[in-house]
Amino acid sequence: SKSLVWFRRDLRAFDHAALHHALRCSQQVFCVFVYDTDILDGLPRDDRRLRFIHASLASLDEELRRLGGYLIVRHGSARDEVLALANELGVDAVHTCADYEPLAIARDTDVAQQLAAQGRAFHSYKDQVIFEKDEVLTLAGQPYSVFTPYKNAWLKRLAAHPETLAAYPIDAYAHAFAPPASAPALPALEDIGFESGEPPLPAGMEGAEALFEAFVEDIADYGRARDFPAEDGTSRLSTHLRFGTTSIRHLVRTARQLMLSGAGGTGASVWLSELIWRDFYAMVLSQNPHVVERSFKPAFDAVQWDIGPDADALFAAWCEGRTGYPLVDAAMVQLNTTGFMHNRLRMVTASFLTKDLGIDWRRGERYFALKLNDYELASNNGGWQWAASTGCDAQPWFRIFNPVTQSTRFDARGEFIRRYLPQLAKLDGKQVHAPWLVKPEVLAERGVVLGQDYPAPVVDHDAARRRTLERFAVVKKAV
Ligand code: FAD
Repeated sequence: SKSLVWFRRDLRAFDHAALHHALRCSQQVFCVFVYDTDILDGLPRDDRRLRFIHASLASLDEELRRLGGYLIVRHGSARDEVLALANELGVDAVHTCADYEPLAIARDTDVAQQLAAQGRAFHSYKDQVIFEKDEVLTLAGQPYSVFTPYKNAWLKRLAAHPETLAAYPIDAYAHAFAPPASAPALPALEDIGFESGEPPLPAGMEGAEALFEAFVEDIADYGRARDFPAEDGTSRLSTHLRFGTTSIRHLVRTARQLMLSGAGGTGASVWLSELIWRDFYAMVLSQNPHVVERSFKPAFDAVQWDIGPDADALFAAWCEGRTGYPLVDAAMVQLNTTGFMHNRLRMVTASFLTKDLGIDWRRGERYFALKLNDYELASNNGGWQWAASTGCDAQPWFRIFNPVTQSTRFDARGEFIRRYLPQLAKLDGKQVHAPWLVKPEVLAERGVVLGQDYPAPVVDHDAARRRTLERFAVVKKAV
């Protein structure tokens, strides 16, 4: 029998559920990736993620060729291309790794139906998460809405089912790959209407592995280092997890071994918790697809975000790093110029947009979706709803980050701020967190005129805090 493996956000040729199953049950296996115009048409031509995907496809193709196969790359509406290719190749089945986003589920349901009409099967496998939405439930069989009990149940389930982490072998079944007789070269980014260029971080399976190896060296210190944006204290694997150039089983297995052996110090278990957050938000989205548009907790839909005449200007100031709060602005410059933002700063900037500027979390979420290299709906939506206090396991709405306190705690010497806001480079450790509190003549000595070289704050935090408490009072009445 013949099979087609449809790669989407799983761009690797090791420990791959769909590839493994296809190779095991077929005589001939073809592989395809489609640059999906249904997704790409909305993106800017210089989108960094396309460069990452493009480089990762080259590495995937190389690895498939080493194994005796090759990658077919198409450009068009994925559902049409996959159906057409399945027909051209005369395959009996299409195998793919499950994607839990609502639009992907709708697309896959449609493809499965159309394949069935052609007499072909569609198989979808768990690959992207350790546990799917129904695998970790409360004793009453309900989904969790709070992280810590979910995490405890997740760990318990893993301890009871360690085989969940077993890798899906590929090499042993490589004889089933259809050989690359007349495979055309992979298209260049220009061929599909995007600008070529260096990927924003080392791409492909080897890029992921190099990052992971370097991170594991220092994992023991992760629990401390992860909170300081000026340090290189986190793994930077999020983009690789997003595009599946590494395997979540491989990461969890390693973290768990380091934890159990004691070699990973306390850092390994803290890092494992972060990977569990990823499963948690995937579960939340699968169980509650309404979160895409609305608050996780319906009562919070009553919150009236600012729709005043200033809202658009304030939103633009936030997007462009012109709020006058250096840590917020430096973070937004990091996002705009690199496509990455440190987790602490995602919390600070999201809190600032919603609680200081009173702007609807959905606007911020969409901006992050456009800019983040590692953007994924589940974690981004979860993070935004957490920051806006509308989500599950929300920080209580009355607990509001103070952007200056965050700055003095997590960037005490202002190193991160200076890296992204060179106009403030000459301010000292204390001045750099709140330049408006420094006497103008002192600022001038250091080359800064407020309102000229760097903006005055667009909002007063204490006044904004009071407005937010009033805004959320409707919730207090509703719950
Ligand atoms: P590490 O600290 O090394 O963590 C390892 C991995 O654990 C990450 O790669 C990620 O897969 C996962 N992880 C870590 N923290 C979280 C978390 N809070 N929620 C879910 N998974 C987590 N993460 C994304 O992958 N895509 C997003 O679009 C995204 N948007 C976010 C938006 C907001 C407002 C917030 C507060 C957080 C968001 N996060 C998102 C979570 C987190 O900020 C990033 O995963 C992390 O900064 C990536 O850096 P890293 O790989 O070095 O992380």
